[in-house]
Amino acid sequence: IPPRFSVVATAPPDSILGLNEAFAADTNPEKMNLSVGVYKDVSGQTPVLRCVKAAEQRLVDGEKTKGYLPIDGQADYRTHVRKLVFGDTIDASRIAVLQTPGGTGALRESAAFLSSQIPGARVWISNPTWANHQAIFASENVPYDSYRYLAADKKSFDVDGMIDDLTTKTRPGDAVLLHACCHNPTGVDPTAEQWNMIAALLSEKQLLPIIDFAYQGFGHGLDEDAVAIRAITNVCDEAIVCSSFSKNFGLYSERVGAVSVVSADSATSAAVQSQLKALVRSNYSNPPRHGAAIVATILDDADLTQMWHAELTEMRTRIRQLRSQFVETMKTTGAGHDFSFLLDQNGMFSFSGLNPMQVDELRQKYSIYIVGSGRINVAGMSEDRMDHLCKVVAAVIEG
Ligand code: PLP
Repeated sequence: IPPRFSVVATAPPDSILGLNEAFAADTNPEKMNLSVGVYKDVSGQTPVLRCVKAAEQRLVDGEKTKGYLPIDGQADYRTHVRKLVFGDTIDASRIAVLQTPGGTGALRESAAFLSSQIPGARVWISNPTWANHQAIFASENVPYDSYRYLAADKKSFDVDGMIDDLTTKTRPGDAVLLHACCHNPTGVDPTAEQWNMIAALLSEKQLLPIIDFAYQGFGHGLDEDAVAIRAITNVCDEAIVCSSFSKNFGLYSERVGAVSVVSADSATSAAVQSQLKALVRSNYSNPPRHGAAIVATILDDADLTQMWHAELTEMRTRIRQLRSQFVETMKTTGAGHDFSFLLDQNGMFSFSGLNPMQVDELRQKYSIYIVGSGRINVAGMSEDRMDHLCKVVAAVIEG
Protein backbone atom coordinates (compact mmCIF):
# COMPACT_ATOMS: atom_id res chain seq x y z
CA ILE A 1 0.00 0.00 0.00
CA PRO A 2 1.16 3.60 -0.56
CA PRO A 3 2.25 5.55 2.53
CA ARG A 4 -0.94 6.03 4.54
CA PHE A 5 -0.32 9.67 5.28
CA SER A 6 -0.01 10.51 1.59
CA VAL A 7 -3.79 11.17 1.62
CA VAL A 8 -3.40 13.94 4.20
CA ALA A 9 -4.21 17.37 2.76
CA THR A 10 -2.62 20.55 4.09
CA ALA A 11 -4.84 22.37 6.58
CA PRO A 12 -5.40 26.09 5.97
CA PRO A 13 -2.96 28.23 7.99
CA ASP A 14 -4.21 30.20 10.99
CA SER A 15 -4.94 33.61 9.49
CA ILE A 16 -3.68 35.66 12.43
CA LEU A 17 -0.57 33.63 13.23
CA GLY A 18 0.37 33.71 9.50
CA LEU A 19 0.37 37.52 9.68
CA ASN A 20 2.78 37.33 12.62
CA GLU A 21 5.25 35.36 10.57
CA ALA A 22 5.03 37.89 7.74
CA PHE A 23 5.50 40.69 10.28
CA ALA A 24 8.62 39.08 11.72
CA ALA A 25 10.14 38.81 8.24
CA ASP A 26 9.28 42.44 7.30
CA THR A 27 12.39 44.68 7.29
CA ASN A 28 10.55 48.04 7.14
CA PRO A 29 11.63 49.98 10.29
CA GLU A 30 8.18 51.66 10.36
CA LYS A 31 6.36 48.31 10.65
CA MET A 32 3.59 47.99 13.25
CA ASN A 33 1.71 44.85 14.26
CA LEU A 34 -1.94 45.52 15.12
CA SER A 35 -3.02 41.95 14.42
CA VAL A 36 -1.85 39.84 17.37
CA GLY A 37 -4.03 38.97 20.34
CA VAL A 38 -1.53 39.81 23.06
CA TYR A 39 -0.93 42.94 25.12
CA LYS A 40 2.11 45.04 24.20
CA ASP A 41 3.74 47.63 26.41
CA VAL A 42 5.21 50.97 25.40
CA SER A 43 8.35 49.28 24.03
CA GLY A 44 6.32 46.87 21.89
CA GLN A 45 7.05 43.91 24.18
CA THR A 46 4.65 41.50 25.87
CA PRO A 47 6.14 41.80 29.36
CA VAL A 48 6.29 39.35 32.25
CA LEU A 49 4.45 41.13 35.06
CA ARG A 50 6.59 42.03 38.09
CA CYS A 51 4.18 40.19 40.42
CA VAL A 52 4.59 37.07 38.27
CA LYS A 53 8.41 37.25 38.43
CA ALA A 54 8.26 37.62 42.22
CA ALA A 55 5.85 34.68 42.57
CA GLU A 56 8.00 32.51 40.30
CA GLN A 57 11.06 33.21 42.42
CA ARG A 58 9.20 32.03 45.52
CA LEU A 59 7.95 28.95 43.71
CA VAL A 60 11.39 27.95 42.48
CA ASP A 61 12.89 28.43 45.94
CA GLY A 62 10.12 26.53 47.71
CA GLU A 63 9.39 23.79 45.19
CA LYS A 64 9.56 20.33 46.68
CA THR A 65 7.95 18.12 44.07
CA LYS A 66 6.92 17.85 40.46
CA GLY A 67 4.21 15.34 41.37
CA TYR A 68 0.88 15.38 39.51
CA LEU A 69 -1.87 17.82 40.40
CA PRO A 70 -5.36 16.46 41.12
CA ILE A 71 -7.41 15.86 37.95
CA ASP A 72 -9.46 19.01 38.50
CA GLY A 73 -6.44 21.13 39.45
CA GLN A 74 -4.88 22.87 42.42
CA ALA A 75 -7.44 23.44 45.20
CA ASP A 76 -6.37 26.94 46.31
CA TYR A 77 -6.19 28.07 42.67
CA ARG A 78 -9.75 26.86 42.10
CA THR A 79 -10.93 28.77 45.17
CA HIS A 80 -9.29 31.97 43.88
CA VAL A 81 -10.95 31.53 40.48
CA ARG A 82 -14.33 31.19 42.13
CA LYS A 83 -13.84 34.35 44.21
CA LEU A 84 -12.54 36.42 41.30
CA VAL A 85 -15.29 35.39 38.93
CA PHE A 86 -18.29 35.21 41.27
CA GLY A 87 -17.30 37.19 44.36
CA ASP A 88 -19.44 36.07 47.29
CA THR A 89 -22.68 36.12 45.35
CA ILE A 90 -23.27 32.37 45.04
CA ASP A 91 -22.98 29.53 47.54
CA ALA A 92 -19.61 27.91 46.79
CA SER A 93 -21.12 24.42 46.99
CA ARG A 94 -23.10 25.18 43.81
CA ILE A 95 -19.99 25.92 41.75
CA ALA A 96 -17.82 23.17 40.26
CA VAL A 97 -14.45 24.65 39.24
CA LEU A 98 -12.00 22.88 36.97
CA GLN A 99 -8.49 24.19 36.31
CA THR A 100 -7.87 24.04 32.56
CA PRO A 101 -5.06 24.71 30.09
CA GLY A 102 -6.05 28.32 29.27
CA GLY A 103 -9.41 29.73 28.29
CA THR A 104 -9.33 27.59 25.16
CA GLY A 105 -9.08 24.46 27.31
CA ALA A 106 -12.01 25.75 29.39
CA LEU A 107 -14.15 26.24 26.28
CA ARG A 108 -13.18 22.82 24.97
CA GLU A 109 -14.06 21.11 28.26
CA SER A 110 -17.39 22.97 28.29
CA ALA A 111 -18.10 21.75 24.77
CA ALA A 112 -17.19 18.20 25.82
CA PHE A 113 -19.42 18.53 28.89
CA LEU A 114 -22.35 19.69 26.75
CA SER A 115 -21.91 16.99 24.19
CA SER A 116 -21.62 14.21 26.77
CA GLN A 117 -24.23 15.38 29.30
CA ILE A 118 -26.77 17.41 27.34
CA PRO A 119 -27.03 15.71 23.97
CA GLY A 120 -29.01 17.67 21.41
CA ALA A 121 -28.11 21.08 22.83
CA ARG A 122 -27.15 23.66 20.24
CA VAL A 123 -24.90 26.63 20.94
CA TRP A 124 -25.73 30.11 19.72
CA ILE A 125 -22.64 32.19 18.99
CA SER A 126 -22.39 35.95 18.36
CA ASN A 127 -21.78 37.21 14.84
CA PRO A 128 -18.93 38.03 14.69
CA THR A 129 -16.95 36.21 17.36
CA TRP A 130 -13.44 35.03 18.27
CA ALA A 131 -12.27 32.92 15.32
CA ASN A 132 -11.78 29.76 17.41
CA HIS A 133 -15.26 29.51 18.96
CA GLN A 134 -16.97 27.64 16.14
CA ALA A 135 -14.04 25.25 15.70
CA ILE A 136 -14.03 24.37 19.41
CA PHE A 137 -17.71 23.39 19.46
CA ALA A 138 -17.40 21.63 16.11
CA SER A 139 -14.55 19.52 17.55
CA GLU A 140 -16.96 18.12 20.13
CA ASN A 141 -19.78 17.72 17.58
CA VAL A 142 -21.90 20.36 19.28
CA PRO A 143 -24.08 22.02 16.63
CA TYR A 144 -23.94 25.80 16.54
CA ASP A 145 -25.61 28.75 14.90
CA SER A 146 -25.16 32.50 15.19
CA TYR A 147 -27.14 35.39 16.64
CA ARG A 148 -26.89 39.01 15.51
CA TYR A 149 -24.51 41.10 17.59
CA LEU A 150 -22.83 43.93 15.69
CA ALA A 151 -25.10 46.60 14.20
CA ALA A 152 -24.96 47.45 10.50
CA ASP A 153 -22.79 50.50 11.26
CA LYS A 154 -20.12 48.00 12.44
CA LYS A 155 -19.53 50.19 15.48
CA SER A 156 -22.33 49.50 17.93
CA PHE A 157 -24.28 46.72 19.62
CA ASP A 158 -27.36 45.41 17.80
CA VAL A 159 -29.28 44.74 20.99
CA ASP A 160 -32.63 44.39 19.19
CA GLY A 161 -31.16 41.92 16.70
CA MET A 162 -29.65 39.79 19.45
CA ILE A 163 -32.84 39.77 21.55
CA ASP A 164 -34.93 39.01 18.48
CA ASP A 165 -32.72 36.08 17.41
CA LEU A 166 -32.59 34.59 20.90
CA THR A 167 -36.36 35.01 21.27
CA THR A 168 -37.44 33.61 17.93
CA LYS A 169 -34.76 31.10 16.90
CA THR A 170 -33.72 29.21 20.03
CA ARG A 171 -35.27 26.17 21.70
CA PRO A 172 -35.42 25.73 25.49
CA GLY A 173 -32.26 23.89 26.54
CA ASP A 174 -30.06 25.51 23.90
CA ALA A 175 -26.87 27.18 25.07
CA VAL A 176 -25.81 30.75 24.32
CA LEU A 177 -22.15 31.71 24.21
CA LEU A 178 -21.61 35.24 25.54
CA HIS A 179 -18.50 37.40 25.90
CA ALA A 180 -18.58 38.77 29.45
CA CYS A 181 -16.58 41.87 28.50
CA CYS A 182 -14.18 43.21 25.86
CA HIS A 183 -15.96 41.38 23.04
CA ASN A 184 -13.46 39.87 20.62
CA PRO A 185 -13.21 41.02 17.81
CA THR A 186 -15.42 44.13 18.11
CA GLY A 187 -14.73 45.69 21.54
CA VAL A 188 -18.51 46.35 21.68
CA ASP A 189 -20.14 45.29 24.99
CA PRO A 190 -23.72 45.45 26.28
CA THR A 191 -24.41 47.99 29.04
CA ALA A 192 -25.41 46.84 32.54
CA GLU A 193 -29.10 47.41 31.71
CA GLN A 194 -28.76 45.46 28.48
CA TRP A 195 -27.14 42.59 30.40
CA ASN A 196 -30.18 42.56 32.69
CA MET A 197 -32.45 42.28 29.66
CA ILE A 198 -30.35 39.49 28.15
CA ALA A 199 -30.25 37.66 31.49
CA ALA A 200 -34.04 37.88 31.86
CA LEU A 201 -34.49 36.44 28.38
CA LEU A 202 -32.06 33.57 29.06
CA SER A 203 -33.99 32.73 32.20
CA GLU A 204 -37.41 33.04 30.58
CA LYS A 205 -36.47 30.90 27.57
CA GLN A 206 -34.50 28.39 29.69
CA LEU A 207 -31.33 28.96 27.72
CA LEU A 208 -28.00 27.88 29.20
CA PRO A 209 -25.45 30.72 29.38
CA ILE A 210 -21.85 29.84 28.52
CA ILE A 211 -19.85 32.92 29.37
CA ASP A 212 -16.40 33.42 27.87
CA PHE A 213 -14.50 35.57 30.38
CA ALA A 214 -11.07 35.94 28.77
CA TYR A 215 -10.49 39.62 29.58
CA GLN A 216 -11.47 40.23 33.21
CA GLY A 217 -9.88 43.53 34.23
CA PHE A 218 -9.14 44.75 30.70
CA GLY A 219 -12.41 46.66 30.30
CA HIS A 220 -13.25 48.76 33.38
CA GLY A 221 -11.86 46.77 36.33
CA LEU A 222 -11.97 43.29 37.88
CA ASP A 223 -15.35 43.74 39.56
CA GLU A 224 -16.84 46.07 36.96
CA ASP A 225 -16.09 43.55 34.20
CA ALA A 226 -18.05 40.86 36.04
CA VAL A 227 -21.34 42.74 35.55
CA ALA A 228 -22.56 40.13 33.05
CA ILE A 229 -21.77 37.27 35.43
CA ARG A 230 -23.70 38.98 38.25
CA ALA A 231 -26.68 39.86 36.02
CA ILE A 232 -26.95 36.33 34.67
CA THR A 233 -26.38 34.36 37.87
CA ASN A 234 -28.92 36.60 39.64
CA VAL A 235 -31.69 35.13 37.53
CA CYS A 236 -30.35 31.88 36.04
CA ASP A 237 -29.77 28.85 38.28
CA GLU A 238 -27.32 27.30 35.86
CA ALA A 239 -24.38 28.77 33.95
CA ILE A 240 -20.93 27.91 32.67
CA VAL A 241 -18.07 30.43 32.88
CA CYS A 242 -14.84 29.89 30.93
CA SER A 243 -12.13 32.13 32.34
CA SER A 244 -8.52 32.73 31.45
CA PHE A 245 -5.47 34.31 33.07
CA SER A 246 -3.60 34.57 29.78
CA LYS A 247 -4.31 38.28 29.40
CA ASN A 248 -4.85 39.72 32.86
CA PHE A 249 -1.74 38.04 34.32
CA GLY A 250 0.16 38.01 30.99
CA LEU A 251 0.54 34.22 31.41
CA TYR A 252 -0.19 33.37 27.76
CA SER A 253 2.29 30.52 27.36
CA GLU A 254 1.68 28.98 30.79
CA ARG A 255 -1.88 27.96 29.82
CA VAL A 256 -3.90 28.96 32.87
CA GLY A 257 -7.68 29.01 32.83
CA ALA A 258 -10.74 27.47 34.41
CA VAL A 259 -14.25 26.34 33.72
CA SER A 260 -16.77 27.04 36.46
CA VAL A 261 -20.13 25.31 36.23
CA VAL A 262 -22.93 26.76 38.37
CA SER A 263 -25.64 24.24 39.25
CA ALA A 264 -29.00 24.70 40.94
CA ASP A 265 -27.93 22.81 44.10
CA SER A 266 -24.86 21.33 45.72
CA ALA A 267 -25.70 17.66 45.07
CA THR A 268 -25.91 18.37 41.33
CA SER A 269 -22.71 20.36 41.54
CA ALA A 270 -20.85 17.37 43.00
CA ALA A 271 -22.05 15.19 40.13
CA VAL A 272 -20.99 17.86 37.62
CA GLN A 273 -17.52 18.05 39.20
CA SER A 274 -17.17 14.27 38.86
CA GLN A 275 -18.12 14.37 35.17
CA LEU A 276 -15.72 17.22 34.46
CA LYS A 277 -12.95 15.16 36.05
CA ALA A 278 -13.89 12.12 33.98
CA LEU A 279 -13.59 14.22 30.80
CA VAL A 280 -10.17 15.51 31.78
CA ARG A 281 -8.86 12.07 32.72
CA SER A 282 -9.27 10.73 29.19
CA ASN A 283 -8.10 13.94 27.57
CA TYR A 284 -4.93 15.31 29.21
CA SER A 285 -5.20 13.46 32.56
CA ASN A 286 -4.45 16.47 34.78
CA PRO A 287 -3.49 20.11 34.25
CA PRO A 288 -0.04 21.73 34.25
CA ARG A 289 0.96 23.23 37.58
CA HIS A 290 3.31 26.17 37.06
CA GLY A 291 0.90 28.86 35.81
CA ALA A 292 -1.82 28.02 38.33
CA ALA A 293 0.77 28.01 41.13
CA ILE A 294 1.86 31.51 40.07
CA VAL A 295 -1.71 32.80 40.19
CA ALA A 296 -2.40 31.14 43.55
CA THR A 297 0.86 32.48 45.02
CA ILE A 298 -0.02 36.02 43.97
CA LEU A 299 -3.62 35.88 45.16
CA ASP A 300 -2.59 34.28 48.48
CA ASP A 301 -0.35 37.24 49.26
CA ALA A 302 -1.73 40.74 49.92
CA ASP A 303 1.37 42.58 48.62
CA LEU A 304 1.62 40.56 45.43
CA THR A 305 -2.13 40.97 44.87
CA GLN A 306 -1.76 44.72 45.24
CA MET A 307 1.12 44.66 42.78
CA TRP A 308 -1.02 42.68 40.32
CA HIS A 309 -3.91 45.15 40.63
CA ALA A 310 -1.52 48.01 39.87
CA GLU A 311 -0.01 46.25 36.86
CA LEU A 312 -3.43 45.30 35.52
CA THR A 313 -4.57 48.90 35.90
CA GLU A 314 -1.46 50.02 34.03
CA MET A 315 -2.31 47.75 31.08
CA ARG A 316 -5.95 48.80 31.02
CA THR A 317 -5.09 52.49 31.28
CA ARG A 318 -2.51 52.30 28.52
CA ILE A 319 -5.04 50.74 26.15
CA ARG A 320 -7.57 53.49 26.92
CA GLN A 321 -4.91 56.18 26.41
CA LEU A 322 -3.94 54.69 23.05
CA ARG A 323 -7.57 54.74 21.98
CA SER A 324 -7.82 58.45 22.88
CA GLN A 325 -4.48 59.32 21.30
CA PHE A 326 -5.44 57.59 18.05
CA VAL A 327 -8.86 59.30 17.91
CA GLU A 328 -7.32 62.72 18.65
CA THR A 329 -4.47 62.27 16.18
CA MET A 330 -6.87 61.17 13.42
CA LYS A 331 -8.67 64.51 13.89
CA THR A 332 -5.48 66.39 12.96
CA THR A 333 -2.74 64.37 11.25
CA GLY A 334 -5.34 61.85 10.07
CA ALA A 335 -7.17 64.46 7.95
CA GLY A 336 -10.12 64.75 10.32
CA HIS A 337 -11.42 61.19 9.99
CA ASP A 338 -13.76 60.46 12.89
CA PHE A 339 -12.85 57.37 14.90
CA SER A 340 -14.51 58.51 18.13
CA PHE A 341 -16.52 55.26 18.25
CA LEU A 342 -13.29 53.59 19.47
CA LEU A 343 -13.70 55.43 22.78
CA ASP A 344 -16.90 53.54 23.65
CA GLN A 345 -15.32 50.14 23.01
CA ASN A 346 -13.51 48.00 25.56
CA GLY A 347 -10.41 45.87 25.77
CA MET A 348 -7.63 45.36 23.29
CA PHE A 349 -9.71 44.95 20.16
CA SER A 350 -11.87 47.10 17.94
CA PHE A 351 -13.34 46.87 14.49
CA SER A 352 -11.68 49.76 12.69
CA GLY A 353 -14.16 49.84 9.82
CA LEU A 354 -11.25 49.45 7.35
CA ASN A 355 -12.21 47.15 4.47
CA PRO A 356 -10.08 44.22 3.21
CA MET A 357 -8.62 46.30 0.38
CA GLN A 358 -7.54 49.04 2.75
CA VAL A 359 -6.12 46.42 5.13
CA ASP A 360 -4.09 44.94 2.24
CA GLU A 361 -2.80 48.32 1.18
CA LEU A 362 -1.74 49.15 4.74
CA ARG A 363 0.31 45.98 4.87
CA GLN A 364 1.80 46.07 1.39
CA LYS A 365 2.63 49.77 1.20
CA TYR A 366 3.20 50.71 4.82
CA SER A 367 3.96 47.48 6.75
CA ILE A 368 0.99 48.05 9.09
CA TYR A 369 -0.44 44.61 9.89
CA ILE A 370 -4.19 44.33 10.56
CA VAL A 371 -6.47 41.27 10.37
CA GLY A 372 -8.58 41.10 7.16
CA SER A 373 -11.83 41.81 9.04
CA GLY A 374 -10.40 45.20 10.03
CA ARG A 375 -9.97 44.15 13.67
CA ILE A 376 -7.17 46.08 15.30
CA ASN A 377 -5.30 45.33 18.50
CA VAL A 378 -5.13 48.80 20.03
CA ALA A 379 -2.28 47.70 22.34
CA GLY A 380 -0.09 47.16 19.26
CA MET A 381 -0.14 50.90 18.47
CA SER A 382 2.95 52.93 19.33
CA GLU A 383 2.65 56.24 21.20
CA ASP A 384 5.74 57.57 19.44
CA ARG A 385 4.64 56.65 15.95
CA MET A 386 0.97 57.63 16.20
CA ASP A 387 1.37 60.49 13.68
CA HIS A 388 2.74 58.09 11.10
CA LEU A 389 -0.02 55.53 11.76
CA CYS A 390 -2.78 58.13 11.41
CA LYS A 391 -1.26 59.60 8.24
CA VAL A 392 -1.18 56.25 6.46
CA VAL A 393 -4.64 55.20 7.72
CA ALA A 394 -5.98 58.48 6.26
CA ALA A 395 -4.08 57.81 3.03
CA VAL A 396 -5.68 54.38 2.49
CA ILE A 397 -9.15 55.67 3.43
CA GLU A 398 -8.82 58.41 0.82
CA GLY A 399 -7.56 55.86 -1.75
N1 PLP B 1 -11.79 33.59 24.39
C1 PLP B 1 -11.53 34.72 23.74
C2 PLP B 1 -12.65 35.64 23.39
C3 PLP B 1 -10.21 35.06 23.41
O1 PLP B 1 -9.96 36.18 22.76
C4 PLP B 1 -9.17 34.16 23.77
C5 PLP B 1 -7.78 34.43 23.40
O2 PLP B 1 -7.45 35.20 22.54
C6 PLP B 1 -9.51 32.99 24.44
C7 PLP B 1 -10.82 32.74 24.75
C8 PLP B 1 -8.49 31.96 24.83
O3 PLP B 1 -7.51 32.36 25.65
P1 PLP B 1 -6.35 31.39 26.14
O4 PLP B 1 -5.11 31.90 25.51
O5 PLP B 1 -6.36 31.50 27.61
O6 PLP B 1 -6.65 30.01 25.68
